[in-house]
Amino acid sequence: MKALIIGAGIGGLSAAAALKQQGIECEIFEAVKEIKPVGAALSIWSNGVKCMNHLGMGSIMDELGGPMHHMAYHDGFTGSVMTQFSLAPLVDAVGERPCPVSRADLQSQMVDWWGRETIQFGKRIEKVDQTDTGVTAYFTDGTHAVGDFMIAADGTHSAVRADVIGYQTERRYAGYVNWNGLVEIDESIAPADQWTTFVGEGKRVSIMPIADGRFYFFFDVPLPKGLAEDRSTVVADLTRYFAGWAEPVQKLIAAIDPDTTNRIEIHDIEPFDTLVKGNIALLGDAAHSTTPDIGQGGCSALEDAVVLGQCFREQFWSDKTKTLPGVIEALKHYEEARRFRVKDLVLKARKRCDVTHGKDMQETQAWYDELRRETGENIIAGLRSTIVGGPLA
Ligand code: FAD
Repeated sequence: MKALIIGAGIGGLSAAAALKQQGIECEIFEAVKEIKPVGAALSIWSNGVKCMNHLGMGSIMDELGGPMHHMAYHDGFTGSVMTQFSLAPLVDAVGERPCPVSRADLQSQMVDWWGRETIQFGKRIEKVDQTDTGVTAYFTDGTHAVGDFMIAADGTHSAVRADVIGYQTERRYAGYVNWNGLVEIDESIAPADQWTTFVGEGKRVSIMPIADGRFYFFFDVPLPKGLAEDRSTVVADLTRYFAGWAEPVQKLIAAIDPDTTNRIEIHDIEPFDTLVKGNIALLGDAAHSTTPDIGQGGCSALEDAVVLGQCFREQFWSDKTKTLPGVIEALKHYEEARRFRVKDLVLKARKRCDVTHGKDMQETQAWYDELRRETGENIIAGLRSTIVGGPLA
């Protein structure tokens, strides 16, 4: 029984880990010769950390996870605290901590964990052929590979998705630009053990501690798509967009390294119900592309992988011969188990995105007012409900 895994991102690598646990051989094909992650860091929330533990990669989280023990919102202009609270009640309630991690380190450690030398880099799938006996992947270099089934974890621009769902999807611009990067921790910007966010005018500036004394930062600004801005203009752009904002924000802008700061126009894709066609399954961003507003894109790829493994385990218990019909049945169960959860996360993130980024400024102002009354209870309840919706709740 052999699976072709397309893409060596969080989704592909975790899917391979989950299938390997069920004794399935996996061959991983990655388009690029060297993976360059699109963002500086990401927060793996407790549901994602549980998945990493389950898949045998918990030690990566232990090593890379930053000490994010508190959370605070500040008024962007005055810098005054709107709310500040401990995340301990969340960790107690869900049984695992969240881990903000360097994306490059996470990617690199997951690749090493799997075995860098066994991944086939420079293999970009362009066509897939499905038959009653298996699946064939055709690559742009003229080669092909054959397997019993395929997990397409080839990201938001997936080349396999249209084959599975039957139409080309459009990416939807979410209305804002995100700049992100890493700086050394400076406690005059924010405490070293806290996720700190400054808000105002539908914009936000967020700072999270990751391992090795670094802050992950991001700036969000609602803007039209396609502006002529890039790394070379980043300091001038942020200085202009955050003119009059509080001192820590100005300090952060002064501290950033333009060469390593990413500028991303944020998109998502309208959720769809079909994740599987026969012996091909979509997983991760290929299956559900979300805005990063609830920090669940990567976490839900990890959840997909765990559920995929669970479906194969259950199927193989009842079908000890490990046949192709058994595979198709297992993938059907995977689709059934995941489609509502992933749709829910994409739509939840979209809603959060609109409120945070001033789609209706009255609603955003009402949220700022709520933040001033917030004790932490409501925010923790929201985070908790997202986390416990995962497969390892
Ligand atoms: P990808 O990471 O995109 O990996 C896909 C892989 O497939 C790539 O290596 C690519 O090179 C390869 N590939 C592409 N096309 C082909 C092809 N034709 N053939 C072969 N290989 C191919 N998530 C969180 O959980 N928490 C966060 O805090 C968070 N913050 C984010 C912040 C930003 C600004 C952004 C943009 C995203 C954020 N996310 C976050 C989302 C997260 O980055 C993604 O959900 C996650 O990386 C998806 O992993 P993936 O493996 O499905 O896709």
